[in-house]
Amino acid sequence: MKKGFQIDSITKHLGITKPLIISGPCSAETEEQTVATAKQIAATGKVHALRAGIWKPRTRPGQYEGAGEEGLKWLVQAKKETGLPITTEVANAAHVEACLKAGVDILWIGARTTVNPFSVQEVADALKGVDIPVMVKNPINPDVELWIGAFERLSRAGITKMAAIHRGFSSFEKGPFRNAPMWDLAIELKTKLPELEMICDPSHISGNRELIAMVSQKALDLDMSGLMIESHINPDAAWSDAKQQITPATLAKVIDSLVVRTVSSDNKTFKDTLSVLRDQIDQLDDEIMQKLSSRMKISEKIGQYKKENNVTILQVNRWEEIVQTRVNLGKAMGLDEGFTRDFLRLLHHESIQVQTKVMNKEEAKV
Ligand code: PEP
Ligand code: MN
Repeated sequence: MKKGFQIDSITKHLGITKPLIISGPCSAETEEQTVATAKQIAATGKVHALRAGIWKPRTRPGQYEGAGEEGLKWLVQAKKETGLPITTEVANAAHVEACLKAGVDILWIGARTTVNPFSVQEVADALKGVDIPVMVKNPINPDVELWIGAFERLSRAGITKMAAIHRGFSSFEKGPFRNAPMWDLAIELKTKLPELEMICDPSHISGNRELIAMVSQKALDLDMSGLMIESHINPDAAWSDAKQQITPATLAKVIDSLVVRTVSSDNKTFKDTLSVLRDQIDQLDDEIMQKLSSRMKISEKIGQYKKENNVTILQVNRWEEIVQTRVNLGKAMGLDEGFTRDFLRLLHHESIQVQTKVMNKEEAKV
């Protein structure tokens, strides 16, 4: 943990057992829609907080940009009728002030705001002296440092109750997801700030209803602390993010379908078996490291030999042959083709580095 960086748990603050479930519409559209959605999700008994966007950062102008301050009254009304704590997105000082005045329980900073240190600083400054929980969505670009920077700015403003929201990253390549989950980046943040609770937003990762349960389960299996899932009384008619919203009834089904696993178990047989398997993994990793080291030493020798004979480091044919044979071998051994290709790319990259070093080394003058 970085010095002077105190992080407290939002789930503990709310007094709930994980996973924390936050749900509600993408946008508060009308008072009726906000309150009716809140009532239906509260009736499931499975939701701990109500979300709804009041100020909506839209990619293109002319789309629904949120109800503004008027919508805060609807959220407050929904809280009054259901008892659910309320949370909304803030992007500047005016938003923060309006939320604090209205009595919003938890704030979140959206993905398009986390990318901008000026905006995050403005939000942090507006929060000085206020001990309200704040959740920070990942920036839309895959930059963990920028994400951490937002927590630092909030922390310096005196905020202690913080959580991260993993909502996926914008990507040029169009995959099955609206925003590529890039789980490794969420894991990297978790590793760098272990006290920080992470909530997954499967709705914005998926971009469609079908993938929400699968993404939610994956998040729980990565030991995330909660889920923020968009829900709407009439998803197809939603004014924003219609394709990814689900009804409160579907939400209840998704939550019921989730398997909540623990990071460890006190069961003796489980511990003994795990320990035996981990010993095997340690042994194999040891062998893999030794083999990798031997392989790099041979690369070095090859580099030296090529240098003496004035031959280039890269020979495309040889590389293609390596990839083909190893991919086939891997397949026969049950290894995923993508994994084998990624692994070979890394190996080849390192091998080229090693050979480049040898090529460029000044020979000792005699
Ligand atoms: C939202 O939660 O509706 C939203 C705008 O999300 P994001 O900042 O993740 O795009
Ligand atoms: Mn949305």
